[in-house]
Amino acid sequence: MPYILSLDEGTTSARAALYDREARRVGLAAVPTVSTFPQPGWVEQDASLIWQSQLAAVRNALGLAGLGPSDVQAVGITNQRETTVVWDRATGQPVAPAIVWQCRRTAARCRELAAHAAKITRRSGLVVDAYFSGTKIQWILDNVAGARARAENGDLLFGNIDTWLIWNLTAGRVHATDPTNASRTMLMNLAAGDWDNELLALLNVPRAMLPSIVPSSAVIGHTDASVFGAEVPIAGIAGDQQAALAGQACFAKGLSKNTYGTGCFALLHAGDAEPVSENRLLATRAASTNSQAQFAVEGSIFVAGAAVQWLRDKLGIIETAPETEAIAQSIPHTGGVYVVPAFVGLGAPHWDAEARAEITGLTLGAGRAEIVRATLESMAYQTRELIQAMEADSGTRLAELRVDGGAAANNFLMQFQADILDRPVVRPADPETTALGAAFLAGLATGYWKSVAEVQSFWRAERRFEPSMPAGTRDALWSGWQRAVNKARTTC
Ligand code: ADP
Repeated sequence: MPYILSLDEGTTSARAALYDREARRVGLAAVPTVSTFPQPGWVEQDASLIWQSQLAAVRNALGLAGLGPSDVQAVGITNQRETTVVWDRATGQPVAPAIVWQCRRTAARCRELAAHAAKITRRSGLVVDAYFSGTKIQWILDNVAGARARAENGDLLFGNIDTWLIWNLTAGRVHATDPTNASRTMLMNLAAGDWDNELLALLNVPRAMLPSIVPSSAVIGHTDASVFGAEVPIAGIAGDQQAALAGQACFAKGLSKNTYGTGCFALLHAGDAEPVSENRLLATRAASTNSQAQFAVEGSIFVAGAAVQWLRDKLGIIETAPETEAIAQSIPHTGGVYVVPAFVGLGAPHWDAEARAEITGLTLGAGRAEIVRATLESMAYQTRELIQAMEADSGTRLAELRVDGGAAANNFLMQFQADILDRPVVRPADPETTALGAAFLAGLATGYWKSVAEVQSFWRAERRFEPSMPAGTRDALWSGWQRAVNKARTTC
């Protein structure tokens, strides 16, 4: 029996997952990846190591499931978005470390672009920010000796991680991306689904280095047998958040999900009409399963689970992320302590690149448990900011929030989220929604699954968290968060 293989290259790990016809996960492997922080606000990864880790994850997943490359019917790819790789077309070697989506090195360049902000938003759907790939590409071309001339000659190629994996999987035969990833570069015209000449000129990025934009659910090439062990169709591509939207079976207007990973990303499917946000959210592409363009409204938070990693790796007050659940539950409240995790600035809806993280409200009674609990709570407060903005944009009230991502395993956080949002929070049976979404796209493109309705029928809830906090408590906590976040902001 053939299987669908998903490659899920996240910020903290490269994962590979195998699915059968009932979309049951029959194999999963994860290989950790490393970020480095060479200067304050900078975040880098080694693109060659990303590729090696991804390949190792594929081998491990196949091996653990007792399968080989020829058991795979199709490959789907999903990836950390915006992260920017520029490599030499001839050698396949990156010319610089990958600039990770969280990296703030181009914040000053984005301030210069402020004069063009309205035009950029109108054309790309995005807010001008260092988050997106456009200024990161420009930075590499301006800072690596000879890079600009080589890019103009077509000797250097740009890709986000999807493109980089596809290039390597096909042994350099296919240089492509999909609209969900391309819509995060600040170089794509959101409505047209093609590179936008005015945006390219504004950011001084040569078209010759850009990948072709191909559909999210279609056979766009084959893996090379020398790399992968068999020639298998590559048939699904989506950025991680749009893949999670698909993996949560949100294929139609009005359906939404929130992912708690390194960052936190809420997406609301907007159907086939290009959305315009009045509340500083992003308009972006959703993965389409046919030729009709699909859109989504997105709220992006740069640091969510990454703040838990900070507690572990920098403060050293926890040993593992999961133990934060019991630590938070060991106290009834934080006693007025708030953590504002603006380690790399604030994303939606504030868009404040210069803001930095703060712990506020400390008293002599506050200790490890308060800081740990406040860190978890910060993910829920930031999510409420996004959902409120989404509701204001759409004029509708969300019935429930579907959740996923590593930190969605935290029961304390999910209950607190339901309480602070005053909405039910629903966690699916398969938490690997990102990988599942990419599998859906690949399976639909190759006839493994016949229809969107069929893949939607695979979605199951594992647990529902009902709000139970008194309104007075919720309002008081929310006011405290707003005071704390305003303290951290530099642009009020
Ligand atoms: P990504 O796809 O961005 O690499 P994941 O979805 O795999 O991220 O989630 C990993 C993140 O979730 C890490 O930042 C980690 O600190 C956090 N995390 C994982 N498990 C828990 C948990 N039980 N409680 C809180 N945070 C967690």
